[in-house]
Amino acid sequence: MTLVPGLSDVQNSSSSFPCKTTSFYRALAQAEDPLHDPIAAQFLPRDEEHSREAHESTDPLDDQRFLVTERLIHRYPDRVLLLTTDRCAVYCRHCFRRHFTGGRQGPPTATELDKVLAYISEHPEVHEILLSGGDPLTLSDSDLGVILQGIRRTRPDMIVRICSRIPVVNPLRITETTARVLAGIEPDGRHPTETDQSVPQSATWLVTHANHPREVTPSFVAAVRLLMRAGVPVLNQAVLLRGVNDDIDTLEALFRALYRAGVNPYYLLQTDLAAGTSHFRVPISQGIAHMQELRKRLSGPAVPVYALDLPGGGGKVPIESSLLRLEAAAYIFQGPDGHEYSYPRTEVARTDGAR
Ligand SMILES: *Cc1c(COP(=O)(O)O)cnc(C)c1O
Ligand code: SF4
Repeated sequence: MTLVPGLSDVQNSSSSFPCKTTSFYRALAQAEDPLHDPIAAQFLPRDEEHSREAHESTDPLDDQRFLVTERLIHRYPDRVLLLTTDRCAVYCRHCFRRHFTGGRQGPPTATELDKVLAYISEHPEVHEILLSGGDPLTLSDSDLGVILQGIRRTRPDMIVRICSRIPVVNPLRITETTARVLAGIEPDGRHPTETDQSVPQSATWLVTHANHPREVTPSFVAAVRLLMRAGVPVLNQAVLLRGVNDDIDTLEALFRALYRAGVNPYYLLQTDLAAGTSHFRVPISQGIAHMQELRKRLSGPAVPVYALDLPGGGGKVPIESSLLRLEAAAYIFQGPDGHEYSYPRTEVARTDGAR
């Protein structure tokens, strides 16, 4: 428990976003230098979290505006996102959904779940449901099974995407049973695609969140194998984080390790403008330079898309192809709706001389 010095002190700090990690993840941090360790930096609160910059917000993506029923966010026409639970195994210090995450609500009530199912039943234009949160895999296999069965009974054609950090921070949580529950495999061993040929039956995908090559452990790889064997493809979303992975060799090693494990690197995300996360922010110009170098060093399928969730609820865009121009204090992007959105040039705004 004293592997990372100071952890017990910070747990009692006044930080509004709780501090929590797993013994597995804590053991990945190097004890000699926790203050400069890329793993410890992701779960140890720092004083900088209490400073809030003018462009930061507690709800940077305007989730509230797109809430269609308790727990369900409908931002894009064809997909919805379910806030499955507000709990996580690790509270990542860079989390952008901290206005919801880290509370004490747990999974939706039966009434809330009924309303979610009614919504997807009445909206055939929705083809995909993301199970996010919080971390859905903090629920038991049977609680998850109830939610997934509800979705599959209501909409057998629905594509399900489960977003979870558990393969990284608590990989032993994923068992053969978990993989079968996620895949929707029946007790008799039938896969959902074999049960009824009259309606299109859909796949379940899992998106995990590894930010550093040291997080791609043998146990992570084993968890991924269990999922893939059950027919659940695995993707990764990494966040570009200062002091964690903002150098080219670390990024190269991360994406190569994921690719080797059979995981599609999918997204490298620019940090959202969540309050108290400015110390993690990497200038977009630097992210673009890293991407150019990654394309020289890695095979095509190992290169992620560098993406940004436009501030104010504009949606996710690929940075390199959506950047319209550079202004004195902001990057200007074109959103999927055709409108312009700006993201601050933090490298210019910084006054302390760092970077
Ligand atoms: C990120 C996100 C999605 C998924 O976006 P993709 O680009 O398909 O990965 C869907 N809904 C919400 C609310 C999101 O924030
Ligand atoms: S696991 Fe995801 S939702 Fe939970 S704290 Fe980390 S980034 Fe936020």
